Amino acid sequence: MSVVPERMLSVEEALERVLSLVRPLPLEEAPILEALDRVLGEDIVADIDIPPFQNSAMDGYAVRSEDVREASPASPVRLRVIGNLAAGQAPDMEVLPGTAVRIMTGAPIPPGADAVVRFEDTDEGRTLEGNLHAGVHTGEVLIMRPAAPHENVRDAGEDVRRGERVLAAGTVLRPAEVGLLASLGHPTVRVHRRPRVAILATGDELVDITEPLGPGKIRNSNEYSNAALVLKYGGVPVRLGIARDSVADLTAKIQAGLAQQVDLFITSAGVSVGDYDVVKDVLHQMGRIHFWQVCMKPGKPLAVGLIDGVPLIGLPGNPVSSMISFEQFVRPAMRVMQGRRTWRRQRIQVVVDEDIKNTSGRRHFIRAVVTRMGEQYYARTTGDQGSGILTSMVKANALLIIPETQRLVRKGELVDAEMLDWPEVE
Ligand code: AMP
Ligand code: MG
Repeated sequence: MSVVPERMLSVEEALERVLSLVRPLPLEEAPILEALDRVLGEDIVADIDIPPFQNSAMDGYAVRSEDVREASPASPVRLRVIGNLAAGQAPDMEVLPGTAVRIMTGAPIPPGADAVVRFEDTDEGRTLEGNLHAGVHTGEVLIMRPAAPHENVRDAGEDVRRGERVLAAGTVLRPAEVGLLASLGHPTVRVHRRPRVAILATGDELVDITEPLGPGKIRNSNEYSNAALVLKYGGVPVRLGIARDSVADLTAKIQAGLAQQVDLFITSAGVSVGDYDVVKDVLHQMGRIHFWQVCMKPGKPLAVGLIDGVPLIGLPGNPVSSMISFEQFVRPAMRVMQGRRTWRRQRIQVVVDEDIKNTSGRRHFIRAVVTRMGEQYYARTTGDQGSGILTSMVKANALLIIPETQRLVRKGELVDAEMLDWPEVE
């Protein structure tokens, strides 16, 4: 069977059509550490104050500020030490005029005290010597500096107020948010499910990475770069191995993938124009799949559609085409499925260090190393831009975007670059 390609789609049209097939996945309850980098599906309202009680911000002495108003190194104020409070202890004493409590950071401020004088501003050596270790504090301390009311005191609720909405649905959880959830006593939280992504390599020439390379064979690298990309962008790879270019094997492997409750199906190779038609035939028979020509280089052929209701993206086989098509289409789809609103690459303008030709008439994604010097970013290409040169992806930290209509970018001119390792934006 031959499939007549539709007219060439722009990258934007292709992306729009891909995204029309996906939507945010349902929420699930996940332990907070497994919620890292995922999107919160509920508002979080604090049901306690943080900190829960007034406590000391310093190691020192809890005092009545009015007692030490006149304190100075020349004329220290002498206070009787009536007790000791470590973090975690509850006060069982009251600071009356002329007394102080030795207190550690995080310990509750005892009743009567309204300020903490740091150890550095006291002299406890002469008076407390000998009884500190015994835990009996009947000695005295010399206060060398005044403490303003409230000095070194942290108030209950100064971080978070009970009743306050601290995190909004839609927030991407970073380590700080995980810590906040822990401080509020949430062992689990509702987040969007991670997409389970089936990955199927196709081709008679492929051998698995542990197999010897026979004549005419190459290793199945796409399965691994695709699985690594799925992991990197928050999905769960479901690896299906290699399907041979036969109707029976392809059908069986696709069915095996669909049986594993996947949210997205990725195939590799067999979608280009000159290909032996088996992959296209099988995809065509099993689902509503379109075979597109996208106006980009590398990565012109792309198959997109639904198979058993599951969105499928058929990536081209060449290792670089596969990775760039993943970057342009699969990554955004996966981000949307995770409930992320931020999935666009940051684009910056860079000065090119050499002439770059684009005779393809398509949008050319040039692998490049972008570095910053002062206020300006500069790009040099990674060398050979062939779609099989996987080391060009190894070297690159950016894709230069040479427009479809531009045949030449001269050394010193500006072009747009998509930064591959920068956080995605809205
Ligand atoms: P195709 O799209 O089937 O025409 O494949 C294009 C090129 O990609 C060929 O040189 C294939 O050998 C190569 N290729 C296909 N699948 C893989 C794979 N899983 N890993 C590495 N290279 C591949
Ligand atoms: Mg092939």
